[in-house]
Amino acid sequence: MSFADSFLQGLMPSVCQKCSDWAQNRRVMPSLIDPSVLRPYSWEYHPWVREMHDSQASFNCAMKSAQMGVTEVGINRAFYVLDQLKRDVLYVLPTTLNASDFSKARFSVALKHSPYLASLFTDTNTVNLKQAGDKNLYIRGSRGDSNLKSIPVSELILDELDEMDQKQIWLALERLSGQMRKSVWAISTPTIPNYGIHKLYLSSTQEHFVFECPHCSRWTELKWPERGEKGSIEIIGESLHDPRCHDSFLKCKECDAKLDHQDKPNWLSGGTWQTTAPNANPDKRGFHVNQLYSFTVSPGELVEAYFRGLGDEAAAKEFYNSKLGMPFIGEGAQITDAMLDDCIGNYTRDEVRPRVGARDRLITLGVDQGKWSYWTAVEWFVDRLSRDVNVAAKGKVLAHGKFHEDDWHELDLLMREWQVQACVIDADPQINEARRFAKKFTGYAYLCRYRRGKVGKEISISERETGAPLATVDRTNWLTAALSRFRTKRITLPRDVSLEYREHMKHLVRTYEKDEMGNPVAVFVETGPDHYAHSLNYAEIALPLAASITTGQDVEKFL
Ligand SMILES: [Zn+2]
Repeated sequence: MSFADSFLQGLMPSVCQKCSDWAQNRRVMPSLIDPSVLRPYSWEYHPWVREMHDSQASFNCAMKSAQMGVTEVGINRAFYVLDQLKRDVLYVLPTTLNASDFSKARFSVALKHSPYLASLFTDTNTVNLKQAGDKNLYIRGSRGDSNLKSIPVSELILDELDEMDQKQIWLALERLSGQMRKSVWAISTPTIPNYGIHKLYLSSTQEHFVFECPHCSRWTELKWPERGEKGSIEIIGESLHDPRCHDSFLKCKECDAKLDHQDKPNWLSGGTWQTTAPNANPDKRGFHVNQLYSFTVSPGELVEAYFRGLGDEAAAKEFYNSKLGMPFIGEGAQITDAMLDDCIGNYTRDEVRPRVGARDRLITLGVDQGKWSYWTAVEWFVDRLSRDVNVAAKGKVLAHGKFHEDDWHELDLLMREWQVQACVIDADPQINEARRFAKKFTGYAYLCRYRRGKVGKEISISERETGAPLATVDRTNWLTAALSRFRTKRITLPRDVSLEYREHMKHLVRTYEKDEMGNPVAVFVETGPDHYAHSLNYAEIALPLAASITTGQDVEKFL
């Protein structure tokens, strides 16, 4: 035996092992077919994960449908890096609660099934820190004060990226980008376009899992038919309750021959990943897999989910995100340039200001504060101040702008310049400045916080928390009221409206999240800076308050 051979033989089992081999040898899992049976980890039913384990790229993202075995890749990577590469690992989940559930359930179960893994860890008592000798596995939630960027690791795994605090994640990624040796894995079901995992995927190699068709021997992939393109499923049946749905079947999109769902382990086992973005940086690999590949979801079930989504936006989102592993945006869920163009009026931001002391114009001011505070002044036109004033009124954006945190006095000037009848400003982050302002303009200025548990357009006002009138409102319902004006043309913009203003309006996208009961609820997600959109929303919230101030009646009379 040559020196090189003996050298390799000595090292192979412990150091040079590939992650996929390591996982097969060291992980023990309940069987997919019969969970009461334990067997060595295998990718027989998820052949696409084998190559993912062994990616050498510094940066990897997996945009996946639900239950495709991809999260297990993240877990295997974490254990492998600790055991074989002897490096610290940071494993991030969306919330602290997710992190502790993960630690108790998946982590502990993995150790319970595998004596090797159990022997690797020297201390597992702390929920968010597991020690393997002098190496650490940190398990953290992305939200709150977890301060991810302070944990010194070169191995980062982000599990369910789209549910995470995106600001924290970009900071953590930015911090890693300067390091020579690093490995990042971001895994998630996508939500909306250009957000979270989809945003990362777009800058990657965008690989699809391809296989050789057992009938025509051409290389192909499993694809849902979209926009007139040929797909790999024959949809049978006409609606959700059509029993023929279950006769739907997979087919090769090259030769149309039927591909047997039950026989997938055979015809998918030789598959491989193929890039669809040949010019992308090969050090940034992206993987995408949909449920047409699943061994546990039948073609009939997919077709049912598809029919359920026709005419039901929340169900359509579920179909695209969880079944196809694709981002989804509902109709009218995002403001477009065309909508904004349709709302441009024939005036500029330099129009005549209201006369001082004359209360003949109904003007409100909304302010989204921060290092820079963004404001919008809106004039409202309504026949009569009555119930549902926000529905009845048409708005005209008179002007917009921003001032720096050193120039809060500019807000006082704006109140006079526009003879503002009601101003709503968000209470945070500079609560003291906001309070000082509200006290100076008592009766005309309100602080505001978005809060869960408010119904419809309800506005609760209390001075208890902040020492100045604080309006608490539901974020989604008010943003819907303010932003839907662009779709229904119930607002006009000056023709010199800034590009930044337009961009901010487009950055809030309506989508759905599951509540505690698993029911879909609408939410607005920010896909970029959105301060002007919130300033417009605060001006909208100020309208019923202005009606209340003007008439001396309770604000509820106008909601
Ligand atoms: Zn074929």
